[in-house]
Amino acid sequence: MSIWEKETFFKPQDVIIVGSGFTGLWGALHLKRLNPNCTITILERGVIPTGASTRNAGFSCFGSPSELIADAASMGEASMWKLVDQRFRGLQMIRTFFSSEEINYDPSGGYECFTAEPGSWEQCCDQMGWLNKELKQVTGENEVFKIADEKISNFGFQGFDHMIENKLEAGLHPGRLVQALLAQVQRAGVQILTGIEVTGYKAANEGVTLQTRQGLSFGTKQLLLCTNAFTPGIVPGIDIIPNRGQVLLTSPIEGLAFKGTFHFDQGFYYFRNLDNRVLLGGARNFALEAENVSEMETSEIVQQQLELFLREHLLPGKTFTITDRWTGIMAMGHEKSPIVQELSPAVFCCVRMSGMGVALAPLVALEIATLMCAAKA
Ligand SMILES: Cc1cc2nc3c(=O)[nH]c(=O)nc-3n(C[C@H](O)[C@H](O)[C@H](O)COP(=O)(O)OP(=O)(O)OC[C@H]3O[C@@H](n4cnc5c(N)ncnc54)[C@H](O)[C@@H]3O)c2cc1C
Repeated sequence: MSIWEKETFFKPQDVIIVGSGFTGLWGALHLKRLNPNCTITILERGVIPTGASTRNAGFSCFGSPSELIADAASMGEASMWKLVDQRFRGLQMIRTFFSSEEINYDPSGGYECFTAEPGSWEQCCDQMGWLNKELKQVTGENEVFKIADEKISNFGFQGFDHMIENKLEAGLHPGRLVQALLAQVQRAGVQILTGIEVTGYKAANEGVTLQTRQGLSFGTKQLLLCTNAFTPGIVPGIDIIPNRGQVLLTSPIEGLAFKGTFHFDQGFYYFRNLDNRVLLGGARNFALEAENVSEMETSEIVQQQLELFLREHLLPGKTFTITDRWTGIMAMGHEKSPIVQELSPAVFCCVRMSGMGVALAPLVALEIATLMCAAKA
């Protein structure tokens, strides 16, 4: 290394963040706002962020009725409402930092669709009063969820018998949001080095030393891991299970009537109208174990289920072609809440976004940034 390189790109930092997805970028932004003089470098293994942030479906959502009811049953009401509050405030933070144009914000509302099969629909109807009452505390809105069965036929759907509308849900362009965040952190003076994969770290005299696959070594006073599903590669044993989400996109469909973001089957399917093309994701419930992987290939079984869903429910009788297919890797665990903590002195992590990181990252990244600033003081 030349002296020039040592004195610039590889200078010891106040903070090194590993991972430049939403969480790492929001983390850098908050740290700079809390302490403008601190030096920060983000290390990213990909040429661009390569996890979930640029590969999701672009839903700006804080939970469909059946998802919230299922979460309340599995994690308890208090934890479920805490998550909803974090997601809602995170989405609001996105809106305060970025204009609608910058991130293609589309406030067309969201819907959960139901079939006539007994169970979920009745349960959602029974609990809608309670959900709306509690959601008013979070959102200030009187009736967040309301029945919208009358729209089903206008939307051109087949095989759905009921729908619940959420007027506060929206769509956005995740690629543009990442780009806008990258621009903001770089303007704030954060250095981003790509193509560098961190393989491990160890405590050093005044902080932490990082090892990388490229053989480069980095020194920092504080380390923040924002590596979500890929964290077990750096912190073995952490409660994170990688989970692959698969998506497909059709060519433009003439007369595509539905607008907004849509959920079905507790969120196992999600779809939206993207410039008159159908973007559809999910169906991982057909291969639950097989989708617990961090490889980004699509799989035939899931893609076939998605195509079947398109034909049966969204585009009945229409001809269409699939132009794009992709995957992104989410981080699940035995609990749905994120891990936001100091792992050891000077080593912090903000990971396990459980498929909610578009919404969660702004707020949980502020939480970890505040913790790091307090630890340093
Ligand atoms: C198909 C799909 C649909 C989704 N739908 C929604 C939704 O509706 N609403 C919602 O809120 N969220 C949704 N999500 C989840 C959301 O996209 C993620 O929770 C969020 O992007 C996680 O951001 P992150 O920064 O924590 O992780 P990532 O975006 O995964 O970023 C981690 C980064 O770390 C880098 N990295 C990993 N290991 C290393 C290493 N060793 N060294 C250097 N760099 C490393 C990776 O390359 C990556 O860029 C969805 C995700 C998918 C895949």
